[in-house]
Amino acid sequence: MKDINEKICIIGGGPAGISAAMYLQKKGYQNYTIYEKLNKIGGKSYSPKIKVNGEERTYETGAIMGACTYHAVHEVEEFAGVGHDDGPNMRRIFRDSSGKEIFPFEPKKDFSIGKLLKLMKLKKQMKKLGELMKTKYDGYDCYGHRGVAQGKYSGLSKMMHNPLQHIEGENPNLKDLALPFDQFCKLNGVEEVMRIYIAPYTSFGYGFFDEIPAGYVMKYLDVTTAIEFVALRLWTWKEGTQNIYEQANKKLLHPAHLNTEVVGVERKDGKVYVTVKDEKGQRTEEFDKLIITTPLDGFLKYSDAREDEKELFSKIIHEKYVDFIARFDENKGPEISSYIFDNMVPERLGHAMVYYHRWEDQKSNCPCTVYALRNHTGTKDADYDYTIKTMVEDVEKCGFPIKERLYEQETYYCPHVSCKDYADGWYDKLEAIQGKDNTYYAGEIMSFGDMEDTCASSKDLVERFF
Ligand SMILES: Cc1cc2nc3c(=O)[nH]c(=O)nc-3n(C[C@H](O)[C@H](O)[C@H](O)COP(=O)(O)OP(=O)(O)OC[C@H]3O[C@@H](n4cnc5c(N)ncnc54)[C@H](O)[C@@H]3O)c2cc1C
Repeated sequence: MKDINEKICIIGGGPAGISAAMYLQKKGYQNYTIYEKLNKIGGKSYSPKIKVNGEERTYETGAIMGACTYHAVHEVEEFAGVGHDDGPNMRRIFRDSSGKEIFPFEPKKDFSIGKLLKLMKLKKQMKKLGELMKTKYDGYDCYGHRGVAQGKYSGLSKMMHNPLQHIEGENPNLKDLALPFDQFCKLNGVEEVMRIYIAPYTSFGYGFFDEIPAGYVMKYLDVTTAIEFVALRLWTWKEGTQNIYEQANKKLLHPAHLNTEVVGVERKDGKVYVTVKDEKGQRTEEFDKLIITTPLDGFLKYSDAREDEKELFSKIIHEKYVDFIARFDENKGPEISSYIFDNMVPERLGHAMVYYHRWEDQKSNCPCTVYALRNHTGTKDADYDYTIKTMVEDVEKCGFPIKERLYEQETYYCPHVSCKDYADGWYDKLEAIQGKDNTYYAGEIMSFGDMEDTCASSKDLVERFF
């Protein structure tokens, strides 16, 4: 019997925490509390304002874009009263490691027969992948990874004709999703598609294809989403992605407590005792239930974690994704975003893989966000200072000396598990402890490290357990 009066604590005021509160509220729950350690809502959806030529506008240091497959984000948008039709268009060019512009997908420019044949092969294999995902891998297209290691699926549908409806079934072929993505492609004779997938995957900081289970790649870049990325039919927000969650937070019965860090969790006698630290000091509050939307390996550090939680959460890996906003001298910056393909390989850890030019009308005066990855399984991490220096040099090689760096950060990015742990049923072990000690797990690890997967995971959690 569900009790809508129970007291629920939500840790984290990012997309997962705000959407969890929204879904609880929609179900009639009125007694929830969100704790957010920072002085802002949105977590890694962070859109600071910068003045250029006397005019202040948003720039993105975290999440930038969505697609028509962002069904759960759309539910948050509707609740918040925010639309996605007012953001700047996405445009980009491609460069090699020397900074020279290249045309890998435009046979008319820089023509060669070899390139044309390669492109035709790529197109054929994209079509083949689309067919395979509909047939051989039927059922892959839902959020989360429950059952996949056993050749099953169970979750909210991501499909355009049936979004956010619960689907479940069996398909032994789904076990292939535990393979590293490069092996998955080889097994299915579609290796060329990695050339398309690498830009929205690796350059967005989600790791390299020889280490990441195909389940993550294909659930994030399901065939429809991948096509939307290629066609650049993407959602962006004039006021930034952060604004979606800020506005949603304002519509909540109980907006998040900012500057309030959860520093302790103790579960006893059927209750959850949460210790928080804010400007007034430290205090402990009693709750009936706890929803954690923050890193689960971090939860081990401040909670009374059980052995099963320690065993599972210590296996979580995350990416080390570095970015900063670069400012240039007047009229000296890029006029369009750029992917630097050659830098999307483990041998080039710490190099800039992409820079994002947000406002077309600002031309060469637009500050740009520059991104690089520092880690790869089996390779020594690129040193942080080396990474920053190298990113600056890479942008300079493209012809744009950086005058100033703003909002430089390294994020705890894209938590996931290894192919081995994925195949060993890590997600089913996590599912087995959902609700134990009145504790529920949400956030990026549940499905994938993007806004849509985190919001959809909150919906899935609230629908099933509350
Ligand atoms: C550079 C970059 C680019 C990205 N681009 C995209 C994109 O284009 N599209 C997309 O969909 N996604 C993108 N993402 C990913 C997206 O931003 C995240 O997946 C999403 O924000 C995750 O939401 P979350 O709520 O699970 O976690 P977070 O956003 O990490 O939020 C967690 C919150 O919990 C708080 N917190 C942590 N510990 C505690 C504690 N002990 N007590 C209280 N509060 C705590 C944190 O301060 C934070 O606010 C990008 C991210 C980055 C960094």
